[in-house]
Amino acid sequence: ITFQKAELVVSAPDKKSWPETDLPEIVLAGRSNVGKSSFINTMCGRKKLAYVGNTPGKTRLLNFFNLDDKYMFVDVPGYGYANISKTQLMKFGQMMEDYFAQRKQKKGLVILVDARHKPTEDDITMLEFARYYEIPVAIVATKTDKLPTTKLKNQLKMIRKTLELNDDEPLFPFSAEKKEGMEAVWDYLIPIFES
Ligand code: GDP
Repeated sequence: ITFQKAELVVSAPDKKSWPETDLPEIVLAGRSNVGKSSFINTMCGRKKLAYVGNTPGKTRLLNFFNLDDKYMFVDVPGYGYANISKTQLMKFGQMMEDYFAQRKQKKGLVILVDARHKPTEDDITMLEFARYYEIPVAIVATKTDKLPTTKLKNQLKMIRKTLELNDDEPLFPFSAEKKEGMEAVWDYLIPIFES
C-alpha cells in the first residue's frame, strides 16, 4: 500500500482540537521509545512523518495523521516515563478516556510493544480500554531485527501470555529497520478502517 498524501493534521492537546472529519481512525499506542514513530513512518512509506526520538514536550498531544483523505492514524503520546507526575498521569488517562468514550470514528487500537521486553501494566491498561469499548485491538511487537529468529518465537509466546490475548487479538512481529511485518499489519488494518 502506498499513499499520495500522508500528513500531520493536528497535534491536539484536548478534545476541542480534534479534527472535524469523519475519516475512520486507528489509534497507535505504546511505551515511549518502543518504535512507534518508526512504525508510522514505515507504514506510511515516509521518512519523517513522525519524529523519531520523541521530544518530551510533545508527550501530551494526540497526533492525527491523514492518509490520502481516507484513513487517519491517531498517535498517542508514548507512556511509561519513569518520573511522570501524578497530574500528568491523570491527564493522560483523561485524554484517552475522552477519546475512547467520545470519538465516534474510532475503529481500532494498535498497541506496540518491544519484542525484547515483557509488556507492562501500562500496555495492559491500554488493552483494557479497547476491550471495554469493544473496538478491535492488535499488538505489534517491534524491533524484531534485534532478536534471533529462535528467540523471537519464545518472546512472542511470552507477550501473548502476559497480555492474555484472545484469539481475535492478533500479534504481529514488526521491524521498521528491515521493513518486515508491514504487509500483515496493513492486511489486518484495512478491513478495520473500512468497517
Ligand atoms: P517512539 O519513541 O516509540 O516513537 O520510538 P522511535 O520510533 O523514535 O524509536 C526509538 C528508537 O528505536 C530509535 O533509535 C529508533 O531508531 C529505534 N528503532 C525503532 N524501530 C526499530 C526497529 O525496527 N529496529 C531497530 N533496530 N531499531 C528501531
